[in-house]
Amino acid sequence: MSQIQLLPAVEKFLAQPGRLFIGGTWQDAASGRRFAVENPANECVLAEVAEGGERDVDTAVAAARAAFTGVWAQQSPAQRGLLLFRLAELLDQYREELAQLITLENGKPIATARGEAASAANIIRYFAGWPTKIEGSTLPVSPSSGAPMLNYTLREPVGVCALIVPWNFPLTMCVWKLGPVLATGCVAVLKPAEQTPLVAIRLVQLIEAAGFPPGVVNLVTGLGIHTGAPLAQHPDVDKIAFTGSTQVGRLIAQAATGNMKKVSLELGGKSPNIILPDADIVRAAKGAADGIFYNQGQVCTAGSRLYVHASVLDQVLEELQRHAAAHVLGPGLDPASSMGPLVSARQLGSVSAYLQRGQEEGAELICGGARPAHLERGHFIQPSVFLDRAERACVAREEIFGPVLTVMSWTEIDELVLRANDSPYGLAAGLWTRDLRSAHRVAAQLKAGSVWINCWNVVDPASPFGGYKQSGWGREMSKNVIDAYTETKSVFVDLA
Ligand code: ADP
Repeated sequence: MSQIQLLPAVEKFLAQPGRLFIGGTWQDAASGRRFAVENPANECVLAEVAEGGERDVDTAVAAARAAFTGVWAQQSPAQRGLLLFRLAELLDQYREELAQLITLENGKPIATARGEAASAANIIRYFAGWPTKIEGSTLPVSPSSGAPMLNYTLREPVGVCALIVPWNFPLTMCVWKLGPVLATGCVAVLKPAEQTPLVAIRLVQLIEAAGFPPGVVNLVTGLGIHTGAPLAQHPDVDKIAFTGSTQVGRLIAQAATGNMKKVSLELGGKSPNIILPDADIVRAAKGAADGIFYNQGQVCTAGSRLYVHASVLDQVLEELQRHAAAHVLGPGLDPASSMGPLVSARQLGSVSAYLQRGQEEGAELICGGARPAHLERGHFIQPSVFLDRAERACVAREEIFGPVLTVMSWTEIDELVLRANDSPYGLAAGLWTRDLRSAHRVAAQLKAGSVWINCWNVVDPASPFGGYKQSGWGREMSKNVIDAYTETKSVFVDLA
């Protein structure tokens, strides 16, 4: 086992306690408190980070408000675009540092983290093109008075946005939200997950280096209950954008009603992946394995319910076992590892409990199901596959957020579509087929925000992403997200 050498800049970064960034100043929490960030691959403390509380949230929201009405409002759209382009350049320049921090605090393999860092720059570059293209329209109104009337719309930034993000893609989740905030002329208070604040701190350092004015992006690290909750309740926050569990999403939506904040939510999923009998079975099985095992299964769009046509079930199960067995579990910093640890002891406990309950409730464990014997430390769990003929076990119905796939078989397509849609979630769905007609017909019937045909987990900043049902409110990326961060103003001018 040989791990990559950490960059000297990363070593130096870890040696300094992480601080809050409020109104352009790096500072400790008002309480002086800090919390420890753990490396999930070896359970050692990686760094200490300021634990923000209510007072820090107040100061950060005030700093954001001051920037929104002051210095940021004076920047032209072209200037905002230029700053975003500069940020994208910096994200490219420091890509390896960012990737190492992601692997250290989240656990994912370094190749996956490098992919995440590279995509962050591309996402910011996409949003850099937007500021000069956010436009209203002129509308053909028909006043009853008959007076000549001009009507046009303006799109204006919503204002102070609280961004509460999770730990599974600690950099991507920040830029998905900061991109539209900065493109539209909004301002932000960013609250990363307590498990993964380090890459967010490094990102905000790059935002500062890019030249964004003080107060435009503020960072308050801390715990969900002490930092996230006061942000969600804050009366001077105009919009809250949250990605995380459906359970916390519900709390956020309730907290937002105090001042009727705009709310966008990206929540959980239990996404159905369907293999039709005419599919390229080898490719489909590989896609299904990647769709659940990528990022240790800690993906809101994980293809965790696999519906395989009965005629190809044995072949698919064989292929899935082969892919699971081929995974090399180990620390993400070892380039030979294809699967890292889960993010925390809590997550490991939760996934292990599902593995146990799944068997108790009658699902048949095909492979995996235990911690790997050769790794003494770290929150590792084997990639696991269940077969659940009755489709009643918790592993067939509940989000696990780990590398656990539950396979079911089917014979009749209309009945299958009903089963695939029988979930409180509706984030993603997929199907594998060579038949164009089935592909488009089934895609139209699936209740999901993203449908992947002969692929999985394809996301692009130009295309909307979000969920039906309890998987969320609103869409991220694309033109849809620009609308979500702007208010529409209708202006009437009496020309008589
Ligand atoms: P997970 O259960 O996978 O850790 P969560 O939904 O709990 O995911 O966390 C996502 C984000 O929400 C994190 O930044 C977390 O700190 C934050 N959070 C957790 N609880 C609350 C809460 N009650 N109010 C606001 N934010 C919260």
